[in-house]
Amino acid sequence: MSLEKVIFHIDVNSAFLSWEAVYRLHHLGWKGDLREQVSAVGGDMAMRHGIILAKSIPAKKYRIQTGESILEAKQKCPNLILVPPNYGLYERCSKAFMGILQEYSPTVEQYSIDEAFVDMTGTELLWGTPVEAAEKMRRQIKERLGFTVNIGISKNKLLAKMASDFQKPDRVHTLWKSELQKKMWPLPVSDLFFVGRATTKTLFKLGIRTIGDLAKSDPSYLKQHLKKHGEVVWGFANGIDVSVVQSLRLLIRDMAILQRFLLM
Ligand SMILES: [Mg+2]
Repeated sequence: MSLEKVIFHIDVNSAFLSWEAVYRLHHLGWKGDLREQVSAVGGDMAMRHGIILAKSIPAKKYRIQTGESILEAKQKCPNLILVPPNYGLYERCSKAFMGILQEYSPTVEQYSIDEAFVDMTGTELLWGTPVEAAEKMRRQIKERLGFTVNIGISKNKLLAKMASDFQKPDRVHTLWKSELQKKMWPLPVSDLFFVGRATTKTLFKLGIRTIGDLAKSDPSYLKQHLKKHGEVVWGFANGIDVSVVQSLRLLIRDMAILQRFLLM
């Protein structure tokens, strides 16, 4: 029997900012929640050179952007609450987050400090339908750790990642192949994974503005203008991704093999 693949992509909402908020509420006895205030995490405040590393949803309304200088952000909103980054805290939060994911499936791939892929194939008897499992996971992370996540569900990593980026925060979204046309194709092509600024510019010149335009275009024509990358993004627009979830255990085993090889 071949099982239908079920992949989750879990992404912490405004991770650094949320983690700072939770830490202040639970460990420092703060009354206000940074997530509900115009706030940001930013480096090097004393020097005034630092940049914004994460921002709250209210800060987004002032058009404060990740990566811009603290000076610029303060110009947009003089009352912006800034907290310095604390990477030790983020690592602890990340570990606790990954720990919960590992309770759901042995195949967890940490993708960044606040993102992971989980292969949930064949876990239906344990956790219910994919949406039920994701809702359970979302609630449990919120109850046990105090921060929210978005979960994207699909048959492959690419589509799961695209789905977790839909409406935020604290949401579960599916993006099955049958939903591509409705949920992904109307989005601007720049929203597609792996489509950076340069590719977007080339695609715009070719009259391709949405992910749907890209999906329906001729891959050999794209190849003429974007080489191999053209075919790759065309595949993505059509929901094609064959990469597998690589669990940590596998990576550690690979590293051990590699080390032994290097020591020979
Ligand atoms: Mg995130």
